Amino acid sequence: MAVAALRRFPPTADAVEATVARLCAECAPWLTGLLKAIVRGQAETSSLFGLPLGADRALVFPGQCTLCRSLPSTGTAGFECRPLVNSFEGWRRVDLCPACDAWLTSIARDGRSARGNASRLIDGPYGEWPHPNLRFLHVATNVRDEGIATAIRDACAAMGVEVGSPAEVAPGAILFVEVGPGIDQHGMSPGPFAASVAVAPLNGRAQLVEALATGATDWLTAPVTPQQVTAALTRVPARWQHPVEYDPFTALPTIRDLPRERPVLFVEPARGTDLFELVWLLRRHSRGYDDLVSCGASQIAFLPRVRAENVGYIVTRLGMLLDGRCRITERPSYAGYRLDAAG
Ligand SMILES: [Zn+2]
Ligand SMILES: [Zn+2]
Repeated sequence: MAVAALRRFPPTADAVEATVARLCAECAPWLTGLLKAIVRGQAETSSLFGLPLGADRALVFPGQCTLCRSLPSTGTAGFECRPLVNSFEGWRRVDLCPACDAWLTSIARDGRSARGNASRLIDGPYGEWPHPNLRFLHVATNVRDEGIATAIRDACAAMGVEVGSPAEVAPGAILFVEVGPGIDQHGMSPGPFAASVAVAPLNGRAQLVEALATGATDWLTAPVTPQQVTAALTRVPARWQHPVEYDPFTALPTIRDLPRERPVLFVEPARGTDLFELVWLLRRHSRGYDDLVSCGASQIAFLPRVRAENVGYIVTRLGMLLDGRCRITERPSYAGYRLDAAG
């Protein structure tokens, strides 16, 4: 039986509020406790997929996200948890950025499995995540956000990769650099670094595009997961040999021929959807080894690293996270046709 209703107030005044999930007696207090822990900066950061981080930043501006403290240019959505029984207190309105909005909506609708962590655990402990031997790499960070710095250190420690400050590492290191409004990018110049990976928040499109145009090899959304860091480090050596070209609108690598042997999901933005916001959310909520590419004329393709039989699950999960921002269609499987023809 539901004990509370999670109500959502969209960012624009002409859209109507709606119940996005009804919470049972176990999920309601669990979700309340989780949000409180995030606000206090006490949440277990590795436990849930896409958990907002940023409680170390101050909450001072109107329009700032209650959970990750970012200041989204597209406005915040309000959330309220209304009690349906006397035994549950509920909570008053919090305001969330598009990333946290998507995260909370999906996790509230998916309460039981989220509580059990089953489907959202970040691919096992870091050490168990498969990665090539990258011990020869050295990593430097030019990052002020403590959550990002910790994720990079954790991922590197699990791989036996050394991390230092930009001043102290050997030439040839890979630099992780935070970019965004108000962040001094002087550490961005290639200098003694072999490659750099930009880490950008949702409102950092302009600075990210500039970083990619001036030589950044790859980029991640801020906050990052250790697994996304590992995957970026795995991609960098390949990109030394095969540099990619980035689309200036979406900041995605452009690709002419999609690989035939992998599942491909075409992502079509809904009318009025901010294209970069959609791209940023997709990267934020995808796993490290998934690929998101631009195939020309604002066509976006998502290439998940999953077995073909699990693609439907990915479509469902992304559909919940992106909630009406786009239409996702699966490319018909060539391998499937071949099997049919052979049978
Ligand atoms: Zn429940
Ligand atoms: Zn947020």
